[in-house]
Amino acid sequence: QGRIHQFKLVLLGESAVGKSSNGDNGDWRMECQDLWAVSFNHTHCFLSISLVMRFVKDHFDEYRESTIGAAFLAQTITLDDNTVVKFEIWDTAGQERYKSLAPMYYRGANCAVVMYDITQSSSLDKAKMWVDELQRQAEPDIVIALCGNKTDLESRRVVETSVARAYAEENGLLFIETSAKSAHNVSDLFTMIAKRMPLD
Ligand code: GDP
Ligand code: MG
Repeated sequence: QGRIHQFKLVLLGESAVGKSSNGDNGDWRMECQDLWAVSFNHTHCFLSISLVMRFVKDHFDEYRESTIGAAFLAQTITLDDNTVVKFEIWDTAGQERYKSLAPMYYRGANCAVVMYDITQSSSLDKAKMWVDELQRQAEPDIVIALCGNKTDLESRRVVETSVARAYAEENGLLFIETSAKSAHNVSDLFTMIAKRMPLD
């Protein structure tokens, strides 16, 4: 019987890259209040997440209503008979206006997925800002994965894989490209992170 290794995982990135479906659709004041309420209750926060929905429920909903809840979201990955990794997954809003709220999300995080949209070069710039911030302010041993999402939109790609991969390598990040829509590489993203976590 192996034991379960549990880690906190945070999602960061510019709005609309595919972390969740709240984006700019919702009323941000309401969302802010909810975010604070969540933090004060010490509850785990889950804003329905495109990528995480694919990972956890194997489902993608293009027209999903924007929801924000104080539900606990967790998923386990079995690496082998003796190794089960459980991720507590926290979503954040990537907008600048939430910048001051970010530290309470990544405090204590063991791993982070910093996501960009391969069809929006500005989203890679924003991802680099999050990487800088995490490397300066988060736990020193945090495992960071850079994730280029929306590979199903290959015809609209503007961020070359080689460019993003080179940046990731220079900065000691894991790197993968995914599609929450087609499910491409979604479980691989989490498995790759699980394999990098300290499991002793
Ligand atoms: P967030 O702001 O980063 O949380 O992004 P959302 O999860 O709200 O997604 C923003 C928009 O991108 C929504 O319309 C999603 O349906 C869409 N989206 C998310 N992931 C993908 C993907 O892999 N491919 C495509 N084509 N659209 C996606
Ligand atoms: Mg979101």
